[in-house]
Amino acid sequence: MPTALETVAEAAAGCTLCRLSEGRTQVVFGMGDPSAELMFIGEGPGEQEDRQGLPFVGRSGQLLDRLLLEELGITRDRVYIANVVKCRPPGNRDPKPDEIASCRPYLQQQLDLIRPAVVVSLGRFAAQWLLETAEGITRLRGRSYPFAHGVLIPTLHPAAALRGGAEPLGQMRADFVRAKLALAAAGTAR
Ligand code: URA
Repeated sequence: MPTALETVAEAAAGCTLCRLSEGRTQVVFGMGDPSAELMFIGEGPGEQEDRQGLPFVGRSGQLLDRLLLEELGITRDRVYIANVVKCRPPGNRDPKPDEIASCRPYLQQQLDLIRPAVVVSLGRFAAQWLLETAEGITRLRGRSYPFAHGVLIPTLHPAAALRGGAEPLGQMRADFVRAKLALAAAGTAR
């Protein structure tokens, strides 16, 4: 018997609800622990993710893995990783509002089935969509917000830290520590 999450992933694998289905190699549904307390949400698959069918497997993913290990002492199999849209936008352009709207039920079902206590959004784009705000990421990050079944902690996209060096990397580290504290707080509250 497939789990509820596997059933949603199967439905997504054949999805043709928006034009992104035309250019994808495969759907990148998400990966990790289906009962994770911590979930990461990025923008959408890039070239490598589209090829491998897994989220954050390129250079950004390597940095994500490193920060997970260095700041929380865990590997990616202990968390769940997904994106706002499950198919690669051509040329890595931003996903369009109608594409996000078509894909949203998949993300919502992931959130409802996994029920993470802490969600960390990666990058401006994911934070703005999830929090339904036009505020920039530098203003959004640095605190947590009530979200879904717990809290959302916005951080930068790892690609920004790879480009920007010490300052954005330090900010990401601080956000990961915030996530760790939020996880500890949720552990006592549940
Ligand atoms: N960037 C994202 O936002 N998501 C991925 O899966 C990879 C890179």
